[in-house]
Amino acid sequence: MLPYFKRAENNQRFANDFHGDQGPLGVSNPISPLPICEAYFRAGQEMGIPFNPDFNGASQEGVGYYQLTQKDARRSSASVAYLKPIRARKNLTVRTDVLVTRVVVEKGRAVGVEVVDKPGGEKTILRAEREVIVSSGAIGSPKLLMQSGIGPADHLQSVGVTPVHDLPGVGSNMQDHLDLFVIAECTGDHTYDNYAKLHRTMWAGLQYLLLKKGPVASSLFETGGFWYADPTAASPDIQFHLGLGSGIEAGVEKLNNPGVTLNSAFLRPRSRGTVRLKSADPADHPLIDPNYWSDPYDRDMSIKGLRLAREIMRQKALQPYVLREVLPGPALQSDADLVDYACCTSKTDHHPVGTCRMGHDAMAVVTPDLRLRGIEGLRICDASVMPRVPSSNTNAPTIMVGEKGADLILGREPLPPAVFKGNQAA
Ligand SMILES: Cc1cc2nc3c(=O)[nH]c(=O)nc-3n(C[C@H](O)[C@H](O)[C@H](O)COP(=O)(O)OP(=O)(O)OC[C@H]3O[C@@H](n4cnc5c(N)ncnc54)[C@H](O)[C@@H]3O)c2cc1C
Repeated sequence: MLPYFKRAENNQRFANDFHGDQGPLGVSNPISPLPICEAYFRAGQEMGIPFNPDFNGASQEGVGYYQLTQKDARRSSASVAYLKPIRARKNLTVRTDVLVTRVVVEKGRAVGVEVVDKPGGEKTILRAEREVIVSSGAIGSPKLLMQSGIGPADHLQSVGVTPVHDLPGVGSNMQDHLDLFVIAECTGDHTYDNYAKLHRTMWAGLQYLLLKKGPVASSLFETGGFWYADPTAASPDIQFHLGLGSGIEAGVEKLNNPGVTLNSAFLRPRSRGTVRLKSADPADHPLIDPNYWSDPYDRDMSIKGLRLAREIMRQKALQPYVLREVLPGPALQSDADLVDYACCTSKTDHHPVGTCRMGHDAMAVVTPDLRLRGIEGLRICDASVMPRVPSSNTNAPTIMVGEKGADLILGREPLPPAVFKGNQAA
């Protein structure tokens, strides 16, 4: 897959065996890190976790800065990178605020999609000349297929959808990374927490407009690392994200004084969840059950990851910045305490994948060339096709799927496998 990652990448700093600088997707290093980030790197090293200048290079392990999908201090989303430059093409129509309610299947072939511009609105059918490509994401794609009668027939019947094609794997095999976190109070104004105050927010806006720097240019989670819960693992199985504040994400506690957050996620969960329909009404949200920790191995590894995060925060290098641990809090020490804490506070890392996974077996939804098994003229191209969740964030891997999918759809020769110079291959 490496050639497709490289083809996507427009790295603003360097190109080598692992990185490209000619692609559409802007990639750069953080431009507004704070001194606490460097202290966090030293804290990792005090625990024997090395500094790694490039997680996306030969080796993933260590602490360091993430590369961001930013170009010239602006977000380089899939839309900005891929759609914006070609908006004038005559054969491209982009319609937003439109809900696809169904893939239209006639005689075993996908011939188009049904759309409405508002729930309950007038239905229009858009017909496809060649293929229908579904890219509605790991939640949206199985939902759309099931609304169209493609999925586990017994489930479809139970919600009043007439099965068109019984495909039992649709909506199964859901995987996600679960984040557990440590939140500490800082000894002073060492993170971006105080920017929540109005005058500082205004200053942050000015700083960005004039200097392209400051909290507006920051993802707030641009420092992190990869390490081991299972020391015998072949590559890291825990990912850290240092959050430059507290309460940054929905549902996470915000401290009164400036705080700092360290998220830890177990990267190779064995648990599998589901996406199911609540009803036959396309306007209804689906039922999402990530089923975290249904395999106890995931729970044990997650708690080990949380303990590692705690230990990093207690290292000498961070003492000038970290006053005290607030969550989980010093009173919680046993595994049982930490499991309870995680059950109350843990959150998604927003990495759902796998619900239309590729393969050749009876539970596979698409073949390795992204064609839906059993229906002609229909492909899925998004995070839902991944058989297993990558041991990383999922945006770049999904864009890689898009790059490879484009070659498959256009019938182009696959890119040749990566050739490594020297001994960099990991
Ligand atoms: C809050 C958040 C933070 C994240 N942070 C990071 C990060 O820092 N780094 C990282 O690597 N990854 C991150 N991710 C994950 C990353 O965004 C996803 O892995 C990636 O976007 C998946 O791409 P996709 O194309 O599969 O699905 P999506 O990006 O979800 O695209 C699916 C699209 O289909 C549309 N859609 C769905 N159903 C329908 C329908 N019926 N009709 C019309 N349109 C429909 C949706 O509105 C959506 O626009 C984050 C995700 C979230 C939610």
